[in-house]
Amino acid sequence: MADSKTKSGNNPDNISELKIKQIEDEVASSYLLVDIGANLTNSKYSRDLDSVVERAKDAGVKKIMVTGASVQCSKEALRLTRLYPGMLYSSAGIHPHDAKTWTDDCYDTIKELASNPECVAIGECGLDFNRNFSPQDVQMEVFEKQVQLACEVGKPLFLHERDAHDDMVRILGKFKDRMPPAVLHCFTGTSAQALKYLEMGLYIGLTGFLWKDKSDDGVRSILEKGLIPLDRLLIETDAPFMYPNVRGSKIPANIKQALSDRSLSFLNRYCTFQRNEPCALPVIVEMIAAYMKRPVEEVAMATTINAIKLFGFS
Ligand SMILES: [Zn+2]
Repeated sequence: MADSKTKSGNNPDNISELKIKQIEDEVASSYLLVDIGANLTNSKYSRDLDSVVERAKDAGVKKIMVTGASVQCSKEALRLTRLYPGMLYSSAGIHPHDAKTWTDDCYDTIKELASNPECVAIGECGLDFNRNFSPQDVQMEVFEKQVQLACEVGKPLFLHERDAHDDMVRILGKFKDRMPPAVLHCFTGTSAQALKYLEMGLYIGLTGFLWKDKSDDGVRSILEKGLIPLDRLLIETDAPFMYPNVRGSKIPANIKQALSDRSLSFLNRYCTFQRNEPCALPVIVEMIAAYMKRPVEEVAMATTINAIKLFGFS
């Protein structure tokens, strides 16, 4: 900010002090964030993706990872990175819900997709024993193949886990000597589970799920207790899902007060339960920082550095 003060000192006559103050406020209130998980291949964005990406940029989201969740979706995610170079990146993998679609050639197809520099992670892959859209044994087999693939290509893992903590730990444990870095995305588990993942070296990805966490030992209390070190935290919208309902009655007043007008304006104008957008990320980071009782700039900066370190965006 020292620099901008010098600028207003050299104020050319044609720019008013007020205008400069407005620009300074704008810069100061804008973030530099990375959304590590947005499902932008979802058909809900097919008509106005340009605007969605533009709004994200205006809100301070400078890079977005487009999640690959099936072979087709991973191909499409890679295609999108070509339309928005330097802004969109992708992952390639098969979601546990779709594990039953795995065929022998999937391994090579994902490997081929992952050979592109814009594809920065393997996933979304993992285990979902909550909904069991694919049989559990199939999920475990397909997940293990993708962990193996990540080890082979040396790209980080983007992991999904619901009600399958023990099996996740067991399978990742088989690869512990050669596993690349990994993030447990949209973490919704308990503090013991978070500590176990952290002990294994994983990053934790948090979304707008925070607003609906009801448990005494869930994500909100994990943040309040400071259990996730700042150098292991990543943020994501999981758009179009996980809309952060900041009006929710479970959110304490001090958290609501910590949300800036600027961030709320993006959320309220453009995001709904039906379709969340990456421009909701500033509200999410403000909520996380408020629960952690840390300055939001510090959390924003740390998560951005973590994302760059983990995924090595070009
Ligand atoms: Zn997921």
